[in-house]
Amino acid sequence: MMADEIPAGRDLNSGDGYAAYSYLIAGEDFRQFELAPEFGRVPAYAAGLSPEQQQRARRLLTDAMVISLHDHPVRFPLRMEETPEYNRTGRQHAAYAGLAASGMTVVFDNMMDGTACVTGNAPWRWDDIITDLGMRQADLAHQRDIMTIRTIADIDEAYRDRRVGLLFGLEAATPIENELDRLDVLYGLGLRQIGIAYSDANALGSGLAEPYDGGLTAFGRRAVTRMNRLGLAIDLSHSSDRTALDVCRHTDKPVFLTHAGARAVWNTSRMKPDDVLRAVAETGGVIGMSAAPHTTLSAAHPRHTIESVMDHFRYCADLVGIEHVAFGPDTLYGDHVMLHTIFARLLSIGATRGPSFDPVRYVDGLENPTENFANITGWLVSHGFGDQEIRAVLGGNIYRALQAIWVSLRPQARRAAVDERQHERGQREYAHGHRDQEYPPGGGRGLIGSR
Ligand SMILES: [Zn+2]
Repeated sequence: MMADEIPAGRDLNSGDGYAAYSYLIAGEDFRQFELAPEFGRVPAYAAGLSPEQQQRARRLLTDAMVISLHDHPVRFPLRMEETPEYNRTGRQHAAYAGLAASGMTVVFDNMMDGTACVTGNAPWRWDDIITDLGMRQADLAHQRDIMTIRTIADIDEAYRDRRVGLLFGLEAATPIENELDRLDVLYGLGLRQIGIAYSDANALGSGLAEPYDGGLTAFGRRAVTRMNRLGLAIDLSHSSDRTALDVCRHTDKPVFLTHAGARAVWNTSRMKPDDVLRAVAETGGVIGMSAAPHTTLSAAHPRHTIESVMDHFRYCADLVGIEHVAFGPDTLYGDHVMLHTIFARLLSIGATRGPSFDPVRYVDGLENPTENFANITGWLVSHGFGDQEIRAVLGGNIYRALQAIWVSLRPQARRAAVDERQHERGQREYAHGHRDQEYPPGGGRGLIGSR
């Protein structure tokens, strides 16, 4: 991280120093692993900002709403090859200290995802997903610093109180099998974002590694409708191109590419063609730039660093407008490159082969959730972006999309619905006294695009 240039993070209260699962006795209640550090695992990124630029970046990071559209904010084993055994315990350890120093307001936390092999050797089993979701929230319930995000009001609270909020997501709907009601169950347990398919096809549609792209199935269309009605945000990052286009046509809410990039910049199946990028923007959705090692490369920067990622950012912003672009760095605490080696088959690393590139040990500038947004903000400041544009891509765009997706959960919307029903029943004596109250309180301090 670039600690000597921009101290990452707002003036968060330093917290009570809670460490994951410290309500239990490590070694007795669960098997203990030596974990990757939250700070200093790789050398600090040298951004080369002037003192004025540093000051402006610090100010923006401190008072903007900052949302990561995709990350895994947990500590992996120091020896990454121990990860299968670590995941068998069902306990990935949230990085409380690292998150508190990150400057983020909300993180879309995608948990174990494609490596969730708790009870078997293939990911996406229902029992494993439920274990992961429940275990992480049991841990969160034993501390006060980090919140769980389930509503717009929760995001407002995290922003106002300068806390970090975790918003739970899943990269594929595979665990629901053929049961739509499992979407409701996942929602009820706190899930707020879900992918359609991962690499392999499932009952909903094709994933990006399928040799034949069948698009969205009839069941998949019903699932999209249910996700819309629930207010469960849809992610198309690992879906096939046709599945993505079909979802964009069928959805009546904005959809996300939580962590992706442009195929025109780097030609692999994991990157998205222009028509998919445009279709997502046309739903009112947002495209988060990924920085997972060796994904968002570019011809100009074939050694993966923040510069390669920003080539995708610029391209997407030019193509669909800056109001539809954000960041979903897809980082974690530990050796991400080694994780790809260990889980190559499950994560379909081989299926996304593209142009040749220089392998890196880590992505300089976007290596872990603590440093990401300090360096992103610094880059935007030093490349001529205005304050309003920076606030939009740091979080404002995602907040606006979530308002449309989660609208039924807002107190204002609930009141309006009650008012409408009361009106229909002709109960005109109903008291409207509190209806004009502003929400969120204070009008969402400095946020743009809250239309
Ligand atoms: Zn992913």
